[in-house]
Amino acid sequence: MSEVAQHVVVIGGGMVAHRFVEALRSRDESGRWQVTVVAEEPRPPYDRVALTTYFTGRDPEDLHLGDDALWQDPKVSLRKGIRAVAIDRDGRHVTLATGETLAYDHLVLATGSYAAVPPVEGSDLQGCFVYRTIDDVAALRGYVEALRREHPDRPVRGAVVGGGLLGLEAAGALRELGAQSTVVEFAPRLMPLQVDDGGGAQLRSLIEALDVTVRTDTATAKVLGARRGLVTGMRFADGSDLDVDVVIFATGVRPRDELGRGAGLAVGERGGVVVDSDCSTTDAAISAIGEVACIDGRVWGLVAPGYAMAEVVADRMLGGTATFPGADSSTKLKLLGVDVASFGDAFATAPGCLEVVYADAVAGVYKKLVVSDDARTLLGGILVGDASSYAALRPLVGSELAADPSAYLVPDSGGLPAGDDLPDEATVCSCNNVSAAQIRGAVTDDGCCSLAEVKGCTKAGTSCGSCLPLVKKLTDTALEAAGVAVSRGLCEHFELTRAELFNAVQVTGARTFSEIVERHGRGRGCDICKPVVASILASLYGGHILDGEQGTLQDTNDHMLANLQKDGTYSVVPRIPGGEVTPEGLIEIGRIAKDFDLYTKITGGQRIDMFGARVEQLPLIWRRLVDAGFESGHAYGKSLRTVKSCVGQTWCRYGVQDSVAMAIRLELRYRGLRSPHKLKLGVSGCARECAEARGKDAGVIATDKGWNLYVGGNGGFTPRHAQLLAEDLDDEGLIRAIDRFFVYYIRTADRLQRTAPWLEELPGGIDHLREVVLDDALGIAADLDAAMEQHVSSYSDEWRDVLEDPEKLARFTSFVNAADVPDPSLRYEQERGQRRPVLVAGERIEVRR
Ligand SMILES: Cc1cc2nc3c(=O)[nH]c(=O)nc-3n(C[C@H](O)[C@H](O)[C@H](O)COP(=O)(O)OP(=O)(O)OC[C@H]3O[C@@H](n4cnc5c(N)ncnc54)[C@H](O)[C@@H]3O)c2cc1C
Ligand code: SF4
Repeated sequence: MSEVAQHVVVIGGGMVAHRFVEALRSRDESGRWQVTVVAEEPRPPYDRVALTTYFTGRDPEDLHLGDDALWQDPKVSLRKGIRAVAIDRDGRHVTLATGETLAYDHLVLATGSYAAVPPVEGSDLQGCFVYRTIDDVAALRGYVEALRREHPDRPVRGAVVGGGLLGLEAAGALRELGAQSTVVEFAPRLMPLQVDDGGGAQLRSLIEALDVTVRTDTATAKVLGARRGLVTGMRFADGSDLDVDVVIFATGVRPRDELGRGAGLAVGERGGVVVDSDCSTTDAAISAIGEVACIDGRVWGLVAPGYAMAEVVADRMLGGTATFPGADSSTKLKLLGVDVASFGDAFATAPGCLEVVYADAVAGVYKKLVVSDDARTLLGGILVGDASSYAALRPLVGSELAADPSAYLVPDSGGLPAGDDLPDEATVCSCNNVSAAQIRGAVTDDGCCSLAEVKGCTKAGTSCGSCLPLVKKLTDTALEAAGVAVSRGLCEHFELTRAELFNAVQVTGARTFSEIVERHGRGRGCDICKPVVASILASLYGGHILDGEQGTLQDTNDHMLANLQKDGTYSVVPRIPGGEVTPEGLIEIGRIAKDFDLYTKITGGQRIDMFGARVEQLPLIWRRLVDAGFESGHAYGKSLRTVKSCVGQTWCRYGVQDSVAMAIRLELRYRGLRSPHKLKLGVSGCARECAEARGKDAGVIATDKGWNLYVGGNGGFTPRHAQLLAEDLDDEGLIRAIDRFFVYYIRTADRLQRTAPWLEELPGGIDHLREVVLDDALGIAADLDAAMEQHVSSYSDEWRDVLEDPEKLARFTSFVNAADVPDPSLRYEQERGQRRPVLVAGERIEVRR
């Protein structure tokens, strides 16, 4: 093609400019456009969203966006460290601060925003900072470090004005620098634009637990300074003072629209260069994108809408007809390690909509879903403390929910969609506006064969990353449907499967999550990999699951050694081996249930569950249970649950073996055994199978000569009958076979994979398993035996250990400031002689404070 290249000048070298250049260059196959980027900052575009990682030791170079090859492209020229100072629309050129002029055929304004500092006296003193660029954070770090050297005897005292997203990021930065941190927010709650009162209250307590002081409803009147012009304190509108050395202003941003204004382009009422849906300004030769653009009367302070605008302009410049698809304020963030997400109609503004709230102050979780008046359609939500469901919920906004809304909020309720059943039009990656159909299409139409390729092709999951689990799920499902082998990596932090990671940890002997992620993965982990690592460590080394770093990795249930129930209370489940219990034991359970007003139920696993315990009651209840000879039933753990047995030979006239004695022996052997998923066993005294043992992970059925062992059964969504592994085993042979089967499964299964699907996927299936367990075909039997012996000899009752350890006991407080005060929001009614919680879908359950 002999077309003469046209020149596009981009003013601003930020995230959106980068996306624009990338999009234009990838589409402009004929090389129609020559690109010049004028960037005021002295470095190539970088990931501003990840700015705070600068304080956790990350090299500023690591923040660079995309592939450096983009800037080596002969069609692209990046002019770093130069500011554009004027636009001549008639002459179609831009003047740079150096006096140089650049002619353009098309001009793109991508100048972003600047950090706004309120007109507070003293805000120009030395020690006041903003939080927008690498230079800002580098200056902050230098200043704090100098103060620390100057005052080695006391901590540096920092304050952040603004309790929004940026303010909390800045507070995190101060903390990383070893400074004390106070967040001062004018509004009555933190992050007032993203979360409601309940979410704000929960967020506040999580942030305060990190030793960050929070002052809401507080207006800053003045920054106080000493003679040398250094910050010494702050004065608030109520007249009170606070001693501080450093003040960071994080009070919002304003569009850098000065060039547009100067050139006579239309500017919005609250700033920002006005653009149409095609992102063109009032001058068709000039577009504006990102935070400087005012589209539909609004300036977006998030990167996703900016990316969408960049794509629109790139498309239009090549003759396309794209228009801005709209955006929403959905965000998922990790602030100071605390998850916060808000999406859709988070503040429940739709007429007649209902709010379903789940709050657990002890686990530090607040979740709210906003649904339509018939409780069927998801409209939005707020998640604080645990935003793991964000990726799955966010795309469902506007869709009918497949289950009761509460099923999507309660941990482990199984309510979340698997991902593969998402409608095509659902937006999976909101940062890059990628739908489920586009991800599926990347596999089926564009031939992508891995998550990395799908990311490259669609850009899904390449910005904040919160949708990655869902992108992976959709990709895997599409690949499987196309008959392509799928990577089984655990999550974005570990490319190893659970089984590979198990091996790696075993070989290297790593004992902490930090060590494991450093050696075998990357990043800081997520809700997928952390519990897996916790489970691997527990399986390999035993020890108390709440000890040290392990305590922070556990799921909510493990965290409290109890199962969280729908109403936010917990269940108490003592172990009753083989279902055998003495009258004294029964009486004590009855007394405890009466004294604490607990609902009691005999379960399918032959235990007695007690429901309705508040967190602070758990140790009191367990003290009495332990004194009566009971121990933890591990109903909360991915571990052995129960060994169900029939009455067997002792009482039953058909019985051929003592099924109760065997069940007790097995239960005492495998209690506390941590595994990829729960484990259930059953023992029947004859082939009549009253214990339904073939529906269990390991089912034992008595024969005249001993025991038949069946493995890989379960009930649940997809019931499976266990398969026969061995016949007529004697007691010792039976136990050895189960030992090896369990350890082999624990080492090689995938995350959350029960024995049934594991066995189905095991190459060679039951025959291979038989060879490993009975014939030692892999030569690992001794190792498997030793691992189980180690488990058996190191077992100790988790609840007893907690009762003897004041530090662990301290977890079990319901109210930060008022232990023993029950949650007033919980209501109960009597039913069949016992109390039950009153729950109404859509009704608001107040967050516990
Ligand atoms: C700490 C922090 C955390 C954030 N977290 C999130 C988040 O979690 N999610 C989210 O969606 N968003 C987040 N944001 C906001 C996000 O970074 C912005 O939305 C995004 O960077 C906007 O991109 P932009 O290119 O429009 O502007 P910018 O990234 O601000 O880039 C504009 C660039 O233009 C340059 N420039 C301005 N005027 C001129 C001129 N006259 N000549 C030459 N160059 C000029 C500026 O120096 C700047 O480098 C965060 C921002 C910060 C600071
Ligand atoms: S399984 Fe056999 S031994 Fe056990 S209760 Fe039933 S009939 Fe009796």
